[in-house]
Amino acid sequence: MPPSKPVGIDLGTTFSAIAYLDETGKPVTIPNREGELTTPSAILFEEDNIVVGREAIRAALTDPGKVVQFIKREVGTPRYRYRVGQKNYTPEELSAMILKKLKQDAERKIGPIEDAVITVPAYFDDTRRKATQDAGRIAGLNVLDIINEPTAAALAYGMGKLGNDEVALVYDLGGGTFDVTLVQISGRKIQMRATDGDVRLGGKEWDDRILNYVAEKFMEETGENPRDDAQSHNELAERVEEAKRALSERRKVRIPCSHAGRRLSVELTKDEFEHLTEDLLGRTEMTTQLVLEQSGLSWDAVNRVLLVGGSTRMPMVRSMLELITGKEPDASLPADEVVAWGAAIHAGIRSLRKPGGARGFTAKVIKELKDVVEINVNSHSLGIAAFDPKTKKRVNAIIIKKNTPLPHSAKRLFKTPPADGKAAALRIRVLEGESKDPDACIQIGECLVKLPADLAGGSPIQISFSYDESGRIGVHALDMTRGREAKTEIIRDTGMSNSQIDKATADLSQAELE
Ligand code: AMP
Repeated sequence: MPPSKPVGIDLGTTFSAIAYLDETGKPVTIPNREGELTTPSAILFEEDNIVVGREAIRAALTDPGKVVQFIKREVGTPRYRYRVGQKNYTPEELSAMILKKLKQDAERKIGPIEDAVITVPAYFDDTRRKATQDAGRIAGLNVLDIINEPTAAALAYGMGKLGNDEVALVYDLGGGTFDVTLVQISGRKIQMRATDGDVRLGGKEWDDRILNYVAEKFMEETGENPRDDAQSHNELAERVEEAKRALSERRKVRIPCSHAGRRLSVELTKDEFEHLTEDLLGRTEMTTQLVLEQSGLSWDAVNRVLLVGGSTRMPMVRSMLELITGKEPDASLPADEVVAWGAAIHAGIRSLRKPGGARGFTAKVIKELKDVVEINVNSHSLGIAAFDPKTKKRVNAIIIKKNTPLPHSAKRLFKTPPADGKAAALRIRVLEGESKDPDACIQIGECLVKLPADLAGGSPIQISFSYDESGRIGVHALDMTRGREAKTEIIRDTGMSNSQIDKATADLSQAELE
């Protein structure tokens, strides 16, 4: 049997895509069973069936209560569950259904799939990264790595340009998230310099503005609110999204709205649309300027502005970027596929590092991928909750600063609590975020160090906190008195345990997705 091919998956808020490298090393998107290059990230729960993709989007119009969409926004949200009958699904399980649909459909074209790289917004924190990795496991994939979407995009753009020296700004505005990243290509090294973004800013926010505008007009005219009824709301949401796409090409559109037996067609011009959403665009502009500042570069040093994500087709995005960067943005690769392409390239690079991983690749492809070096940065500062003796308050003491090249680790010395005769444990709250106030940061969990029972109070323990290449957090503790590793782990506040993941994997492997 030919070796299974590693794949790259862009698990998007609104659409997802899967790609692999062909014999020549070129990334190729694998169409789904319906023949589409991107699959809507929507899940329909029927009586005895789970349907993912276009059909689920259609069903949202008539049966909105049975359809889950935008699940990526809930990934990492503590206690989020989607209830179907007696079963409560976690965001990991729901994301796994989308991944499984992509895997199943792609297997019909390229044979069995095991190894995969899944992309995440660069701005995802550790909790969301772990949840994405776990979703891959539940879908029956061997997740070789998770990779930041802009790094993937830069890889796809940059492969042909490796060898040149170039600085690129990757502006990625998708359906639900926004990311902006500065990437430097030097020789065969692709290095992220700085990144920032917003996990709740994407095309959906632009849609919602139009939807509210039309709904208000409808209310003025009829006194009825189409947002009150799930079916009218979903129908309008679909019309609005079509109208938004049309406004990328046309000066004005008419948006039909039906509710409570009444019908109205509302006109919207491109100028009105841009006015309604200018603060959203302004937020992306501010983040873009901030990233440039954080990288310590000026616009003169940036050679290229890369557009990623379907929402970059909006002309307002292109004009704003041209104005602030002084460069015409590059949209030469398909905005919806480029992230999956980069993930497929990264999967190829990762696969080559595995024993036997070169099987299935030609010598030319191996040569091309072998010595590519990718360097990521952490998108959030890593800190711990510490007591500040001056203010007598708990503060977020930052240990690894945001935008540090990865992998990276930092050591800190702690003292064991005063002994009280019992085996003591050292507990440290691990945080991600920039604020001084621990409560304003994302609490990843508690680093729990189990101490030997006979260790005296006040003994030194050295803890090393680290980020690996894919931005995942790790901890190690050293009992300095005996020079031995102390048992330590991060007890997470959110996410699934190993046994829950195993059970979910078994459950989903039974299910045949449509
Ligand atoms: P992605 O997650 O990158 O596939 O992006 C999906 C988002 O891009 C959705 O919000 C779409 O409505 C939006 N989108 C796709 N095509 C266009 C277009 N021509 N004009 C404006 N927005 C678009």
